[in-house]
Amino acid sequence: MPAESKPNPASPPSVRTVERVVRGQPSSDGAGVKLLRVIGSAALPDLDPFLLLDEFHSDEADDYIAGFPAHPHRGFETVTYMLAGRMRHGDNQGNKGLLGPGSVQWMTAGRGIVHSEMPEQEAGLMWGFQLWVNLPARDKLTAPRYQDIAPELIPEVQPPGFKVRVIAGEFGGVRGPVQAPTTAPVYLDVRLDAGKGFEASLPESHNAFVYAYEGAATVGEEASTKAVNRGELAVLSRGSLLRASADGGAARFLLVAGRPLNEPVARYGPFVMNTQAEIRQALVDFQSGRL
Ligand code: MN
Repeated sequence: MPAESKPNPASPPSVRTVERVVRGQPSSDGAGVKLLRVIGSAALPDLDPFLLLDEFHSDEADDYIAGFPAHPHRGFETVTYMLAGRMRHGDNQGNKGLLGPGSVQWMTAGRGIVHSEMPEQEAGLMWGFQLWVNLPARDKLTAPRYQDIAPELIPEVQPPGFKVRVIAGEFGGVRGPVQAPTTAPVYLDVRLDAGKGFEASLPESHNAFVYAYEGAATVGEEASTKAVNRGELAVLSRGSLLRASADGGAARFLLVAGRPLNEPVARYGPFVMNTQAEIRQALVDFQSGRL
């Protein structure tokens, strides 16, 4: 490529394509909550800077009632997004919150937090997602932070044919309430009407994925699209534009992107650091009550 080659504002955008499709794996976590592990499984251990994506979706109380009793985290951020049902959060920093349908909880574990995430219902549908976003080495021991974002604080863009809730990043001229400076995440919840299409600009070098949670989305550029079915995650190529359509009925999916950290990842359960020595330190700190 010639040295003077620069992005030309008049040149066409590079459309992201589907590099691979990964199916979520039925799994169980916490005190026995059934879920679909989409990132963080053997098939897709991580997608820098994303370390884990779980979908929990059940109207059988036995699948979720045990919840996630007190457990620690260190070194990353957790993002919980609820579609249905209620979860009660409490932590050792004194934060309390009730997460209801359409709300988001963004928690920066930083140097350490011990929290519980328990269902606030004994029956009915519980449906939502938890995403883990890595922190850069220099922020892994930052002070813990916690924010509950009520549904009405999440802007919606609703032109004919689709609806987008902007949880993080920018879409259609509106900015989502959540910001993380280093990974600069984009987190969109997209609903396409049957037969309709949608385009989103994305930072060119962010890693990105589409996770279909209802119906099927067709993703990619015209000549080489791929179907992403319910329960499947599409890892996207680099590029400045995402194109998706709903060819077989309405589709709902998450479109998530983040700037990769390109740092070593050492993980053990709820701790994600850069080295094994830091993991050992996290265990010692937790066991001696210092989280
Ligand atoms: Mn947790």
